[in-house]
Amino acid sequence: MILVRMELGMLATNCYVLAEREGGEAAVIDPAGELKRINKALREHGLQLKMILLTHGHPDHVSGAGPLSDATGAPVFIHPHDAEALASRRNLLLGLQAGVRATRPHQVQELGEGDELRVDGLLLHVLHTPGHTPGGVSFHLPGEGPGHLFCGDLIFAGSIGRTDLRGGSLQALLAAVREKIWNLPDQTVIHPGHGPETTLGEEKRHNPFLIGLGRGASR
Ligand SMILES: [Zn+2]
Repeated sequence: MILVRMELGMLATNCYVLAEREGGEAAVIDPAGELKRINKALREHGLQLKMILLTHGHPDHVSGAGPLSDATGAPVFIHPHDAEALASRRNLLLGLQAGVRATRPHQVQELGEGDELRVDGLLLHVLHTPGHTPGGVSFHLPGEGPGHLFCGDLIFAGSIGRTDLRGGSLQALLAAVREKIWNLPDQTVIHPGHGPETTLGEEKRHNPFLIGLGRGASR
């Protein structure tokens, strides 16, 4: 598996390039801007961009989606509850700071709980994980070694995403973690929207926002 992490834009948003193999198909998760760097990563591995996946609609995650999609023909996938953000003025402003002219992509496809997305032999499962935003999703990739989770601003190493922004809800975020994430294998590698990677087991044990959350979680 090929996994490239880049920190892009003013808010050091993690953008991921994911592929099964050199020369194959690729997914880009949260293209925040700085398209030259994304294109360089694709080129270095000879990858063909197949899809652009957005964990949620905040401008620091989506600003590069429109121009990248329109230049490559790869569709943008976003949950319908966050999709209007693609055309927001804030998105345009933050995009300019990240070196892109954020426009609404021509090809937008909605995704939601239970969807599956294929990148060559990799199968990503879509989990609807609201709380940071109403349309927040996580992409779970089981079966690749320990398993991987791309969760946007749901969980960070030692913290959780803000819930005081428009549409945010702490209750919804904790419910999403308990119901959708908690019972994944502890060794699952979590790739958050900002900051370093971690594991689910590590966060269960040490994340002050999550300790004790599993009590009563369904098995
Ligand atoms: Zn966010």
